[in-house]
Formats: sequence, structure tokens, C-alpha cells
Amino acid sequence: MATKSTQDLHPNIVIGPSKAYAYLFTQMRKKESSPPTFAAYARRAMALLAEDAIAEMPTKEVEITTPCGPTTGVELDVDKVCVVSIIRAGDSLLQSFLNALPEASVGKILIQRNEESEDKEPIFYYSKMPPNVGDMHIILCDPMLATGGSALCAITALRDQYSVNLSNVLFANMICCPEGLQAMADAHPEIKIVTACIDKCLNEDKYIIPGLGDYGDRFFNTI
Ligand code: URA
Repeated sequence: MATKSTQDLHPNIVIGPSKAYAYLFTQMRKKESSPPTFAAYARRAMALLAEDAIAEMPTKEVEITTPCGPTTGVELDVDKVCVVSIIRAGDSLLQSFLNALPEASVGKILIQRNEESEDKEPIFYYSKMPPNVGDMHIILCDPMLATGGSALCAITALRDQYSVNLSNVLFANMICCPEGLQAMADAHPEIKIVTACIDKCLNEDKYIIPGLGDYGDRFFNTI
């Protein structure tokens, strides 16, 4: 059987190019890494991912002057950027985006997997967005794209409750897997995904393999 290429899994995926991800993820993946150690390496990796994702946002050309003369550059319209976290793990990635874009607006969505159910289907609890979010470019944050259930639930809320144009949504995650990419591609191929890594598959508990366990529990030290 022919193996699927990355673009077969999702037509609009960008894999962050930094070579540093390999050793940062090795430390994060080790089960013996304590939560503070995990969080320290995760912050370094998320800072890289945030820059890789920001580089995919629309920019406009600007004329600037260096100490040595004029040149052309690019600028992001940060007033039009809203970083949306899927609470709780998404809050870790949100912070990395805010370190890079302190003037960006923030939205929050609380969705939790029903751990009692076989499919771990998502349950929507709460959201809060800035008033003009429908006119903004959205960076949706969740470090792990597993089944895609939470991301799809968040995207439905952005579209149906806040009139967000989905071609203005970029989904940033640290690790994804073929199942989650396929679910995203089937529902929303127009949404760009920026990730650092594609892992092998999901296990029967819908955790990513090899993955790194529960990102939120390890990052926030609630193991
Ligand atoms: N959420 C996590 O934190 N880890 C996984 O492997 C899947 C979902």
C-alpha cells in the first residue's frame, strides 16, 4: 500500500522547519521529564511554533529606513489578530503567541473531552471573544490535534456564534496525527494548520502515539 504524503493528509498544512524541534520534543516526550522540565522545553518549542505560525499570517509591504538607508519590509496588522485558546492546554500556546504579539486580542473557548465516552467526544461549555472577532484573523491554539473533535467544535462556535470567516482561521498545534488531520481536511480544508510534528496514530484512549501523554497535565503540573 502506498504511504500517504503530508499533503494527502491535509491540503493546507505547514510543518515548522526548525531543526531544534527534534531535541526539544525528545525531552518533552520522555516520561521521566518532570512537569517543570516538560514545561521548560515546551515553552522553548512553542516559541518556535508561534513564530512559524505568525509567519503564515497575511502581511503588508512597508517602506522603512534602516540606519543606512531605505528598504522594503513586511508588517502584520496586529490589531486584526485574535489568538483563541482552547482551554486548558491551549492556554500554554496562547502565552507563546502573546509573548510574540503582546497587542493581539484574546479569545477563550472551554471544550472538554467526555472521557467516559468511547469516542471521547467534545462537550462545549463556554466562550468569550472580542466584539469585532468576525473581522479578525484568528490563530486557534491547542497543542495536541488528536481526534480533531475539540478543534472542530471550536471552529463551529467561531463560525456560528461569532460569524468568523473560516478562511481567516489558522490552527496552531505542536503535535498532530493522521486521524486528526483527516478529520480537519474532511470538514475544513480551507483552514491552514501549522504544526511542529506529525506522529503515528491514536491509541484506543484517543491519545497520540508516541505523543507525550496529557499536555495540559504535564504543562500545568496536575498529574
Ligand atoms: N490531548 C493530549 O494532551 N494528549 C494527547 O495525546 C491527545 C489529546
